[in-house]
Amino acid sequence: MKNSWSDAEAKKYIRKYARGGVNQDLALRVYSSRLLGGNPKLVLHGGGNTSVKTSMADAAGDMVDVLCVKGSGWDLGDIEPAGLPAVRLAPLRGLKKLKKLSDEDMVNAQRTSLLDSTSPNPSVETLLHAFLPHKFVDHTHSNAVLALTDQVEGEKICRDLYGNSMACVPYIMPGFALAREAARVFQRNPDVEGLILLKHGIFTFAATAKVAYGRMIKHVSAAERRLKQKRRKKVFPGAALPKKIAAVAEIAPILRGLVAEDLGGGEWQRMVMDFRSSPAVKAFVNGRDVARYAREGTATPDHVIRIKPKPLILAAPEAGDLAGFTKSAKKALGKYVRAYRAYFARNNSRFRPSKSELDPMPRVILVPGLGLFGLGASSKAASVAADLAEANVAVITAAEAMSAYKVIAERDIFDMEYWGLEQAKLGRGTEPPLARRVCVVPGGASGIGAATAREFRNMGAEVAVLDRDAAAAAMLAAEIGVLSVACDVTNRKSVDRAFNAVAARFGGVDILVSNAGAAWQGRIGEVDEETLKASFDLNFWGHQWAAQAATRIMLAQGTGGCLLFNTSKQAINPGPGFGPYGLPKAATLFLMRQYAVDHGRDGIRSNAVNADRVRSNLLTGEMIKSRSKARGVSQADYMAGNLLGLEVTVEDVAGAFVDLALSPKTTGAILTVDGGNIAAAPR
Ligand code: ZN
Repeated sequence: MKNSWSDAEAKKYIRKYARGGVNQDLALRVYSSRLLGGNPKLVLHGGGNTSVKTSMADAAGDMVDVLCVKGSGWDLGDIEPAGLPAVRLAPLRGLKKLKKLSDEDMVNAQRTSLLDSTSPNPSVETLLHAFLPHKFVDHTHSNAVLALTDQVEGEKICRDLYGNSMACVPYIMPGFALAREAARVFQRNPDVEGLILLKHGIFTFAATAKVAYGRMIKHVSAAERRLKQKRRKKVFPGAALPKKIAAVAEIAPILRGLVAEDLGGGEWQRMVMDFRSSPAVKAFVNGRDVARYAREGTATPDHVIRIKPKPLILAAPEAGDLAGFTKSAKKALGKYVRAYRAYFARNNSRFRPSKSELDPMPRVILVPGLGLFGLGASSKAASVAADLAEANVAVITAAEAMSAYKVIAERDIFDMEYWGLEQAKLGRGTEPPLARRVCVVPGGASGIGAATAREFRNMGAEVAVLDRDAAAAAMLAAEIGVLSVACDVTNRKSVDRAFNAVAARFGGVDILVSNAGAAWQGRIGEVDEETLKASFDLNFWGHQWAAQAATRIMLAQGTGGCLLFNTSKQAINPGPGFGPYGLPKAATLFLMRQYAVDHGRDGIRSNAVNADRVRSNLLTGEMIKSRSKARGVSQADYMAGNLLGLEVTVEDVAGAFVDLALSPKTTGAILTVDGGNIAAAPR
């Protein structure tokens, strides 16, 4: 592993933070924390923590000795001084003389010793940092170190490798007891450069940030070298697989449907998925013994809160036999859920008062022949789960290449999964209204489509922007943090490809806002065939291809869905010369109702928004100018020519789509967004 320390960079940090009144110790602590956090082989998603002992002024201006230690909710990779709250050192060290300390009392002691009461909670490993004498203390869950210690002979391997340079601490759950034990081990080995926490991770320490970090890299590199020696060539003998494997886009919606919880009344608690595959992942999931090594437990205990103790392992999906796959996956999931409930009951019996059971659904699914899925309440959570699953694949592969992967006992894993201080890391905020739902917006790169993509994202949905203009779609997607896919809705194959890309990325589709459209004009008695056909291709067939592709995925999920069509006033009230536009739009309005009729019993709702006089690429500034002139009114009056006297904006239309998505008992309906036009024309 490369040592990335740079004296010049370190100086830059000191200078940069000095301007904000941050002392040199803390600036260097930020710098080397980021070096550690930027390396996924050392630190992933909130794993690992660092500290520095320094002095700071209290409210009275008196200097006090403090421990600046990673606060919960911060990642080392992009930590700031505010992410390393200062805790008075003396009261923390005073706790060392205690025999026992409850978690509540520990958290209270840490919080009441903060210099700034608004700071985040100091790390659950704060006392371990405080009880060690060194100025800089670094802690990671290095893959290489875990691969060595997570073996049957893990302790012996570590002792042989590190000799007197590192001391080994037996596995104890983080908190006061571990801090005390680590301090005890250190006192007996005061010359070591760090500690190996068996089945957990590694600490290094020193008087300077540079040396503490250098020691981390040195000892992790030693572990990496050890793993390369006497390594088995073929780690996982492969299982027999079907000749042709089904595609990710075919099986993801099936799995997403199976793990969704039926809340009744047409509502579902869904999950978002993130698929990963690589030669390493494939070798792992295709292994004959995958049920043994993959279900042993997580590489380091703190992964368990995000990926559960075990993944769900499925049979390889044979191409052309999705029904067979669905049946076997359903059975495997049922077994998984029963096993999780039994695991909870078995371990919960040790607790008074008892713990409350978490949902039993897997967060990682292994699919032989394909790869793995991470699952979560959002695409972010799903990708965190997938990252941790990939890290576990790396650790388990390296451990199995030497001997056999072995982690802590089930009861220790349970204690970690159900530890209040660990669960607190996940946060328990209320979810936005459209969280866990995947929304596809064809024609989403501009106008009403772009406003709709933004609004659905604001409401918590995972969004895919489809557009013929791939560059514009990509630009919007980057700006609002969603997926973009190039798609021409008049081409059925292009539509299917785009929806498959969405299913492969998020696991499925729940909401379609079929929005792509353009206006053609011509008096109906004179218009040429091409014009009419081109308009039908986009303004009718485009909607049908998108709705059919969405419905195919929704049926595979079996959790209902929501189809929304952007129709037009032309679909109901024909305007002179607008036949080529209005005719297919009228057909699309009927199409919306046909979906409502044919798929209501599948839980698929179908509705339309009928918007009028909205500034867009269908109603350009030029058109507004000429029409208002023709009617002898100002442009503003023309745009606000409705009962409310207000111009209708793309945001108003986007809001109407969201309202329909949030109306669980509405189907076959048209929501008009035109400022009101029900009055008869003045005589
Ligand atoms: Zn740790």
